[in-house]
Amino acid sequence: MSPLRALARVNVAAIERNVARLRGELRGGSELCAVVKADGYGHGAPAAARAALAGGATWLAVATADEATQLRAAGVDGPLLVLGALSPEELDAALRAPADVVAWREAFVEAVAARGGGRVHVKLDTGMGRLGTRDPDEATGVAQAAATAPTIELAGAMTHFATADERGDDFFGEQLARFAAWALPLRERHPGLILHAANSAALLRDADSHFDLVRAGVAIYGLDPFQEDAVARDLEPALELASYVAAIKPCAAGESAGYGRRFVAEADTVIATVPIGYGDGVSRALTNNAELLVGGRRFALVGTVSMDNVALDLGAGGGGVRHGDEALLIAEGLSAEEMAQRLGTINYEVTCALTARVPREHHRDGAPL
Ligand SMILES: *Cc1c(COP(=O)(O)O)cnc(C)c1O
Repeated sequence: MSPLRALARVNVAAIERNVARLRGELRGGSELCAVVKADGYGHGAPAAARAALAGGATWLAVATADEATQLRAAGVDGPLLVLGALSPEELDAALRAPADVVAWREAFVEAVAARGGGRVHVKLDTGMGRLGTRDPDEATGVAQAAATAPTIELAGAMTHFATADERGDDFFGEQLARFAAWALPLRERHPGLILHAANSAALLRDADSHFDLVRAGVAIYGLDPFQEDAVARDLEPALELASYVAAIKPCAAGESAGYGRRFVAEADTVIATVPIGYGDGVSRALTNNAELLVGGRRFALVGTVSMDNVALDLGAGGGGVRHGDEALLIAEGLSAEEMAQRLGTINYEVTCALTARVPREHHRDGAPL
């Protein structure tokens, strides 16, 4: 029985093992940078970061300056990269964390210097079309400016793939070739420069993308970057989302459950109310479109997902379900990938959506931390 209304149980040992398993794929001396942005994809950033480092990651990355500050405040040390764009105020905070930052304009390098310097990674946009410069010469100029500024260390050169998770597309190879053509000669001029391009999908897809460092996020949590079956890929899902059966009552034919009467019983049945909802990050788009596990059996979520509750159809006999039984929304045999598919989204969004109202309980293979 769940001690809490809604709870995300996160197995840090699974994250450790996933990182170790992913490192085993890395070519040559490539190292692993664990991406723990968005509160570790909803798993809790400090715990995820510590688990990743224990599993052999040597770098960490986040998206925002605030995330870097919070990780440092939690006592997490080691090389840390802020991947995202930074306003002047955010740049201050990122450098103070301290964390490495990403540059693609000379003016940004000057802003780093004006703040007393720091470590910079230059980003070439090889086709993502988001951050970075598309012009390899401009990127080289930015690298040169960083390398010659006395207080700045030119630490890395990077890019990001747009289609690494789409098998059989040619664009990935084009991006890889553009990056290699720019970054390999740059590293010859700047020995020690860390080249990095791959995300989780690229890591698993093509060892040519590994270079010196791989930035792996989703896969370290045991989520499949290809939206198929994480377990079949030897990844262990680290997060379980649990609630419990708070009410059980008969629902006669013609009676309904939930807002808008989106479920009306066709025959006499029994309804269980599980007190978790979109206020916890369980999408309202799962209305009449999900299953939960109670006692190892799947029961259909019926009616509207409301802010604080969902209803389950236990069937006429009540399915042997009792008050207080645990009800699982994400668990072994009920993956985040399945929920994502029902929602027409990706597993990343499913775990990131969990709100602060859901406590994260970290454990190591069931033992409390
Ligand atoms: C989020 C992010 C990653 C990690 O991607 P995954 O698909 O989760 O492995 C890597 N690099 C950049 C620039 C990112 O923003």
